Amino acid sequence: MTDPLMIPCAQCAGLNRIPAARLGDAPRCGHCKAAVLPAAPFDLNEASFAKQLRGDLPLLVDVWADWCGPCKAFAPTYQQAAGQLQGRCRLGKLDSEANRQLAGQLNIRSIPTLILFKGGVEVARQSGACSRSFTAGPFASRARSYKSQGMSVSVSHADRPGHCRRPRDD
Ligand SMILES: [Zn+2]
Repeated sequence: MTDPLMIPCAQCAGLNRIPAARLGDAPRCGHCKAAVLPAAPFDLNEASFAKQLRGDLPLLVDVWADWCGPCKAFAPTYQQAAGQLQGRCRLGKLDSEANRQLAGQLNIRSIPTLILFKGGVEVARQSGACSRSFTAGPFASRARSYKSQGMSVSVSHADRPGHCRRPRDD
């Protein structure tokens, strides 16, 4: 990883150059002055997605929809994870209903689906965050490989498992 890091702003997607040692200092965006690395998940859409894929921090994407109960049940867990992983992994949310074309390109077959990108490339995916924990499965094995970045925080879903539903086909 290079230092300083290039990191897109969660708000405007503009690239910011941030020294690794300053990642925990709530850096502000040089373009729009918003928090580059907020403690909460930020919204992704078709316009911003390619820009948000850039940069030196991994990007975790929660693909969800408003009609999906398990997605809603998972939201507080994901919110908490954003705080735990702040400065190490960027957490975004993609509304699959509002961004159907992109959801199709990402080959989303059920929701919620979590996808981990690094260097703009998908490195892990898990459908059904409604299971007890998404540390089980591919995310865990990939997460371990990020230990050098301190990304060893596990995120578990305390509530009972829900059922995933397939996105509706119109
Ligand atoms: Zn900005």
